[in-house]
Amino acid sequence: MGWTQDRLAKIKEWEKECKWENFVDENLINDIIEKTQNPSKEKVLAVIKKAKSNANTGKMLSLEDTAILLNNTDKELDEEIFKAATYIKKEIYGDRIVLFSPFYIASPCVNDCKYCGFRASNSSLSKKILKFDEIRSEVEALLDSGQKRLIAVYGEHPKSDYEFIAKSVREIYSIKKDKSEIRRVNINAAPMFEDEYKVIKNEGIGTYQVFQETYHRKTYESVHPQNTLKGQYNWRLFSLHRGLNAGLEDVALGVLIGLYDHRFEILAMLSHAYSLEKYFGISAHTMSFPRIKATSNSQKFNPYIISDEEFLKVIAIIRLMCPFTGTILTAREEPEFRDIALKKCGISQTDAGTNIGIGGYSQTKVKNDLTNQQFKIGDNRSIDEYILSIIKDGRLPSFCTSCYREGRTGENFMPLAKNATIKYLCIPNGILTFKEYIRDYASDEVKDIGENVIIPKYLGILKENLPKVAQKVEAMLKDIENGGKDAHI
Ligand code: SAM
Ligand code: SF4
Repeated sequence: MGWTQDRLAKIKEWEKECKWENFVDENLINDIIEKTQNPSKEKVLAVIKKAKSNANTGKMLSLEDTAILLNNTDKELDEEIFKAATYIKKEIYGDRIVLFSPFYIASPCVNDCKYCGFRASNSSLSKKILKFDEIRSEVEALLDSGQKRLIAVYGEHPKSDYEFIAKSVREIYSIKKDKSEIRRVNINAAPMFEDEYKVIKNEGIGTYQVFQETYHRKTYESVHPQNTLKGQYNWRLFSLHRGLNAGLEDVALGVLIGLYDHRFEILAMLSHAYSLEKYFGISAHTMSFPRIKATSNSQKFNPYIISDEEFLKVIAIIRLMCPFTGTILTAREEPEFRDIALKKCGISQTDAGTNIGIGGYSQTKVKNDLTNQQFKIGDNRSIDEYILSIIKDGRLPSFCTSCYREGRTGENFMPLAKNATIKYLCIPNGILTFKEYIRDYASDEVKDIGENVIIPKYLGILKENLPKVAQKVEAMLKDIENGGKDAHI
């Protein structure tokens, strides 16, 4: 048997023995969506109040409460949802935005997902796996731009299997440029068996992301051919249960917005978070909500595409629903949309300086060449341009990787987010990593606003709340001025 057939057979065996309970109750979700139609103003306000009070209790909203928000059509109340999202995010993480860059390493894929440029049947895309010297050039280019955090992305293929992923992560961590290095590599790749996750974990990965794409079984089957690995719904549904069982510490959920009714998808993603809590005592580290974008040879998914206005609301509702979970908005979206979403929706992480072409950071430099990348990118700003827009709005850009390196992951991280004390680590580490960026990479404008407005502003917040930590950070800032690297607490 070939690699794919052999793996498919093993997956089907696994599915028969799956010990976890299905957590996507389609009838229940549909009933809840139905019975919460046109919620009254009082009901919506009561849920918003509850969400705010959850900011430091570690509780998530119920499916019903979340459906009430998703079904709200009163524009005035939308504004209350945005205010609450901003409040909750600030209360838990402070006003910092963690930045990362996606790093596309391998595009060949044995699957045939209808929405994806990497799909096996798409002959208009040239498929490529980076060699190790090319990985090195890419990482050096990323380091030259000031980046310290990556999400490495792979298609599912025998040549980019778990052993290749493990080796490529080891290679990334080994690369030094001007004494700088990548400090955290998250992964976005296909679901694995537990022994495979263990091999990858040994390389010191950060978060493992598997997006369910759609939790709606019929839609799932219609966009993922049944004879492919990706076609196996349950295998994917429990991929992160397997990961946590194998010892991964941080896992991330996601839905591809545009395949099915977004209200169903968000409620199912919440059910997923509850299931992880139930079995492992920790929820998702982050949630992603990519909207479908054009690919080479694109197919259309019109029925469930949502407007910018609706999408902003959905992102804010995710913050209210799972207050302590990181939310990620990517450069799939246009700059104007991203800037508004950062202001209003309580987002905690975004990519910056994004180029998803294979070899895009060092070799091609051509952006949005759909014959060499998975889908179209909307925000092509450089890291420095992006940081400038963040700091002009008074927010703190952060390249922090401290929790990961200090062992504050999984069950050691969650309580700090759930009781809203993590901000007292996020803010100091944001200040320190931004200072290092300013010293080594910033344009004059970023340097000016950073040194004179942003760092004093956030140091001031620390002085007011944690004077001893503020003193320590001031000393560390001096050390960075004198050439110190990688300061964190
Ligand atoms: N092959 C791995 C898998 O399927 O899990 C990695 C996934 S892919 C490289 C990363 C994610 O991109 C997918 O999970 C999907 O949510 C998203 N994606 C795929 N096609 C897309 C499109 N046309 N527009 C926006 N996002 C897309
Ligand atoms: Fe392959 Fe993932 Fe694209 Fe599907 S979404 S074709 S599995 S890379």
